[in-house]
Amino acid sequence: VGDFLERAETVYAENPAVVDEPGVPGSLGRLTYREVAARARGMALALDAMGVPAGARVAIVSPNASRFLIAFYGVSAYGRVLVPVNYRLRAEEVSYIVEHSGATVLLVDPELDAALSEVTAKERIVMNGVDDAALFAEAPPGAEPRAWTPDEDAVCTVNYTSGTTARPKGVRLTHRGCWLNAVSFGWHTTITDRDVLLHTLPMFHVNGWGTPYALTAMGGTHIVIRKIDGEDILRRVETEGVTLLCGAPAVVAAILDAATARTETGRPVPGRGRVRIVVAGAPPPSAVIARVEEQLGWEFIQIYGLTEASPLLTVNRARSDWDGLAAGERARLLSQAGAPAVGVRLRTDAGGEVLARSNHVFDGYWQQPRETAEALADGWFRTGDGGRFDGPLLSIIDRKKDVIITGGENVSSIEVEDCLYRHPDVAEAAVIGVPDDKWGETVKALVVLRPGSSAGPAELIEFCRASMTHYKCPTSVEIRSELERTATGKLQKFKLRAPYWQGRDREVG
Ligand code: ATP
Repeated sequence: VGDFLERAETVYAENPAVVDEPGVPGSLGRLTYREVAARARGMALALDAMGVPAGARVAIVSPNASRFLIAFYGVSAYGRVLVPVNYRLRAEEVSYIVEHSGATVLLVDPELDAALSEVTAKERIVMNGVDDAALFAEAPPGAEPRAWTPDEDAVCTVNYTSGTTARPKGVRLTHRGCWLNAVSFGWHTTITDRDVLLHTLPMFHVNGWGTPYALTAMGGTHIVIRKIDGEDILRRVETEGVTLLCGAPAVVAAILDAATARTETGRPVPGRGRVRIVVAGAPPPSAVIARVEEQLGWEFIQIYGLTEASPLLTVNRARSDWDGLAAGERARLLSQAGAPAVGVRLRTDAGGEVLARSNHVFDGYWQQPRETAEALADGWFRTGDGGRFDGPLLSIIDRKKDVIITGGENVSSIEVEDCLYRHPDVAEAAVIGVPDDKWGETVKALVVLRPGSSAGPAELIEFCRASMTHYKCPTSVEIRSELERTATGKLQKFKLRAPYWQGRDREVG
């Protein structure tokens, strides 16, 4: 992946590369590609001086920051392995990942230092501008780090899955996989040097879906933010001339709420006709897609993928033969996961599970041969997602583990959530299976209402019954003030289910 920064340094040396959030501890302000490349070399020289060998793991736990971008290259481009850790995990979970990956160097964001004080490694370095000064200094002109012959099969990063289904597993991604995924991502989203990407997706998560590689290769600008706040995002879109954002549907929901607030107070919503937003991680409700296109005037691109696929598997971007379709029909088509990305083969097995093959599918879990063998049987990667093809377009029906089996019928929690999202009072919905003596399990909805709205459980159940088969409809609805999400904006349904299943086993469809 060192190719990417090398190219940016050669072709776009003075282009703005990365802009840190002002006032944040450890902020590096604005850096050009010349400066980022010099600092990445500086990091490699510092790791050489510390005696960190090729293949050693260097973990980083940090919200989005320019130091993170530098580490992608300062570590991996010189033969070491970056382990980007979810900064929202508890200290014991971070310790698990550091220990399991065998990381000898741990880079910690200053704001997380106290909370993660018990997480140790041979070298634990806080990125506060003082302790890490040697690691983030520009290499002196002419100084070259120890030679490493780039090897496509070498491990580039080990990314731990967020653990929405079980204990995190370390996904080994090779240089080849990261490289091909980045090229494919850049191709499908048409990234150029004119692009300004606002990092609304955590960089730790599957390497920011490859954007730190893809955008860098093309000389675009990375704008770094740490927290998801809809109005702050709109402000940055305006002031930084943002053209590209990525994130889970929860990010889109925050932006739409802020846009509505702006419209109500007569303030313009920026980026119309300029911005494209790439959405993945969870199924986006079609009502949300329609609002992105109409209310914001931004282009909506959906992708589907997994950490294990580096992550790109499908892309859904409006095609020329959809021109002229009614807005509702476009949103319906775009709400599907999409067609296979370049270089990806997909099929479903007899049970409806999506299987994938690609040169950017991972080569195994870090030190988990049993799990690796299960996931990569017969050369196909088992995604654990249930899917269905409609022509070339794949729809994700549900994670196999989240499918609700009620009275022998399979119910997609995603389909029920999509229905609930069409109710004007529903801000968030999570649908889970809870135990039921008669049906085995039954459909339950956990719902967060929009501020000031008043729909009750009975009304929401009736609303579903008006458009869905009876057995798919929730039999109970609980109104919640919030639904806990992961750092990438995902619901952890196993956690939502747990209180209802205490002491009972749940069969998985
Ligand atoms: P786990 O720890 O259970 O593997 P995770 O959330 O860490 O979970 P990721 O690789 O981050 O794993 O997420 C991949 C999953 O996200 C996919 O398997 C799929 O269920 C879901 N997903 C991603 N994109 C989409 C999409 N466009 N539509 C529907 N679901 C999606």
